[in-house]
Amino acid sequence: MFLQTRNFSNALLPKGPLAYIGGKWTAAASNKVFEVTNPYDGKLITETTNCDVEDAKKAVEAARNAFEKWSLETTAKQRSIILRKWFEILTAKEEELGKLITLEQGKPLVEAKAEIAYSAAFIDWYSGEARRIYGQVVPAPVLNREHYHTREPIGVIGIITPWNFPTAMIARKAGAALAAGCTLVIKPAEDTPLSALAFAQTGEEAGIPPGVVNVIPADRANTAMISKYLCESHDVDAISFTGSTAVGKLLLAQSASTVKRVSLELGGNGPVLVFESADIDTAVKGTMASKFRGSGQTCVSANRVYVQETIHDKFLAGLKKAFANLVVGDGMDPKTTQGPLINQKAIDKIRGLIDDAVKKGAKVELGGKNLGPTGCSFEPTLITGVTNNMEIAHTEIFGPVITIRTFKTEEEALKEANNSRYGLAGYLFSKDMAQCHRVARRMQTGIVGVNEGLLSAAEGIFGGVKESGLGREGGTQGIDEFTHWKYICIQH
Ligand code: NAD
Repeated sequence: MFLQTRNFSNALLPKGPLAYIGGKWTAAASNKVFEVTNPYDGKLITETTNCDVEDAKKAVEAARNAFEKWSLETTAKQRSIILRKWFEILTAKEEELGKLITLEQGKPLVEAKAEIAYSAAFIDWYSGEARRIYGQVVPAPVLNREHYHTREPIGVIGIITPWNFPTAMIARKAGAALAAGCTLVIKPAEDTPLSALAFAQTGEEAGIPPGVVNVIPADRANTAMISKYLCESHDVDAISFTGSTAVGKLLLAQSASTVKRVSLELGGNGPVLVFESADIDTAVKGTMASKFRGSGQTCVSANRVYVQETIHDKFLAGLKKAFANLVVGDGMDPKTTQGPLINQKAIDKIRGLIDDAVKKGAKVELGGKNLGPTGCSFEPTLITGVTNNMEIAHTEIFGPVITIRTFKTEEEALKEANNSRYGLAGYLFSKDMAQCHRVARRMQTGIVGVNEGLLSAAEGIFGGVKESGLGREGGTQGIDEFTHWKYICIQH
């Protein structure tokens, strides 16, 4: 299989616009396609297949047919071995897979390769966890009876993922779900379907049996219909979604009619608290890393920075200095640290937030303009003078814009940090260990970084509280989303 278009070739893609259903590379029933473009220069990369509900039904049927074989006729050890092989293939193909991400998503190649390593780490972790999905033997309250609890795979999982981590957001779910014995129908984001197809191809190479993993790319219009079908179908046992809170709420509502399990990894509005005892260099480094990875298009991005007023000027000076190291450009250029935003809509959103803030009294200290061949890149931007009546204080920015404010006391800092309907990641910088523990415990987020801006690892859990989601990925707990407990009572 080898895909070749005008300006791009990659051995990891199917030849032509094909979905992956039941172990076969197949065109959509309608034969329709949609374009995949490079967000940096707007150029066409290739066309990919545009699946609709008919194709989704075939994918669900394939996943349903494969389920028993994968869950009951394959041992945990066999699943573990296949996942480990998949990890090795992903690791060996890091460069090629990384390039694919950079082409269709725009992030710098070094970050794209790190995303593949991160994805592979989840497959590796769940290769191990596959063999440790233990049940319980429970002492029975009456004689001649055995009581035990087992953990059963939920079944067919509908996976819907975003474009900001085109491979990792699939891998984080797929590793745990496959380890548990589930089978998958993956609907990748319309901006980044190629990475999902390449990921499936590496899985096929690792020995994932036909029908266990299915990928059905679709454009935005077909996506809405496919997602509705997946949520409402009795043949789909759970939905695992990563994306915006707005779409997450819609999928949760649509899933109510079948009472299926729904896991949601949604948006965030990351607060950062910098206390006066903090090491300024550590705080600047951590804040920059959290904010500017993926050009600010990460769910755990530092959006709102609150600095204790006694160190505000020092911290701001450090941050401004660090801005000088950011280079906006084509992700394929090794000098680039900031790729483009995903599309014009993202630029318009940021422009609107900045205009609203400035109108209400905020000051743009650095940046503020869009750049690049199609204007789809955005200068790293630093804003001060932000107040709570501005939209930017409450909205997930999802771009390279950071807001800085001051606080006087720990109590005030926590009140501001928790003043959000989101609760995904929060950060704090302090050398006072008692304060670190105290504030970390009181921060209303699912994830807290203390003196660290880059947190996520396969071994740790990931997920939010409030409107940032339901459920956890990663760690041992990641398996919980894809299993249910069964009680067995035996009379003898
Ligand atoms: P999005 O919600 O627009 O899209 C996510 C997925 O949902 C895509 O596959 C898309 O095709 C699909 N979708 C879009 N509209 C739909 C509809 N009407 N019905 C059904 N499906 C639909 O989000 P996005 O812009 O792709 O991603 C950015 C968002 O994802 C941000 O809010 C970010 O914080 C969040 N995110 C969260 C995590 C996390 O782990 N919590 C990780 C990455 C991204």
